[in-house]
Amino acid sequence: MTKPHIRWFDDWYAIEAIAPGLFGIGEPKYHQVNWNYLIVGQERALLFDTGPGLRDITPVVASLTDRPVTTLLSHLHFDHTGNFHRFADRALPDLAILRACVRDGVLVAPEELFFGSLEDMVWVPVDIGHWWPIGHRIDLGGRSLEIIATPGHSPESISLYDAGGKILLAADFLYLGSLYAQIPGAFLPDYLLSAEALARRLPEDVLILGAHGKPLPDGTQVAPRLFRGDLADLVTGLKAIRDGNMPPMGQNPDRYWINGRLMLLAGPESYGSWRSEQGG
Ligand SMILES: [Zn+2]
Repeated sequence: MTKPHIRWFDDWYAIEAIAPGLFGIGEPKYHQVNWNYLIVGQERALLFDTGPGLRDITPVVASLTDRPVTTLLSHLHFDHTGNFHRFADRALPDLAILRACVRDGVLVAPEELFFGSLEDMVWVPVDIGHWWPIGHRIDLGGRSLEIIATPGHSPESISLYDAGGKILLAADFLYLGSLYAQIPGAFLPDYLLSAEALARRLPEDVLILGAHGKPLPDGTQVAPRLFRGDLADLVTGLKAIRDGNMPPMGQNPDRYWINGRLMLLAGPESYGSWRSEQGG
C-alpha cells in the first residue's frame, strides 16, 4: 500500500485523499473512529454519512468541493447521522421502514433505529429531498454510485458501489474490528444473504471502505480498508455459525473470530431461525 495522504483539517477531522474525487473524512478522536466519505463528480458531490455530529462537518466538506452536495445516510444510527440536518439537500434509500419514519413531511428517526440515548444524541427532524430506490445509480457527472441494500447490521443499511473505480463503501456492514450484529435490528440471516450477494458481484480487486477505523501500527489514522478476502471470510464464518460449526469465543455478546481483522458480535435475537433449526 502506498503511503496514505492524510491531513488534519482541524483538531477533530482528518481528511484522506483515497482516490481521485474520493475523500475519507475521519473523526479519529471520537471513540468509535467514524469515517464518512465524500465523492466528487464533475457536476455534483455526495456525502455518505455525516458522523455523530459532535462537530460541524460542513466546513470540511466545503473545503473539498464547490459543487452542490447531497447527503445520503447508510443507516440511521446516531454515529452516522449527526450532521444530516446541517445540509440543505438530503437523500435516503426508498425503503418502507424509512418512509414509515416520516410524519407531516419530516423524518424523525425512532429510537430503535437511531439509538441516540446511548450517547445523549437527539435527532433533529428533517425533510428528505430524494428517495432513491435500491439499485438506483446516483449520477455525479463522470462517475456514478449504485445503491445496494446490505441489511444485517440494521434492516435499512445500504452500501454504495462505484463500479468504475471498483470501490464499495460498506459503512457498518463491513469495517475493521468488531462488527455489531448483537444490537436490536441486527440479523445474522440477513447478514449472510447480503454478504453472499456482494461476494457474487464484486470483482477480485475491489477496495472496500468501512465506516469505523483503527490506526495503523505507527498510530496513523487511515480510512479502514478491507478486501475481497475479508468478504469471503465473512461469508465462510456466517455459514459456519449458521451450521453450528463455529462456537463463539465468548458470550454476552457471542464473539466470533471471522479472521485476524474482523470479529462478529451476536446476541440471542440475532440468529432468527438458525438457532431453532439446530434445536437450541
Ligand atoms: Zn451502525
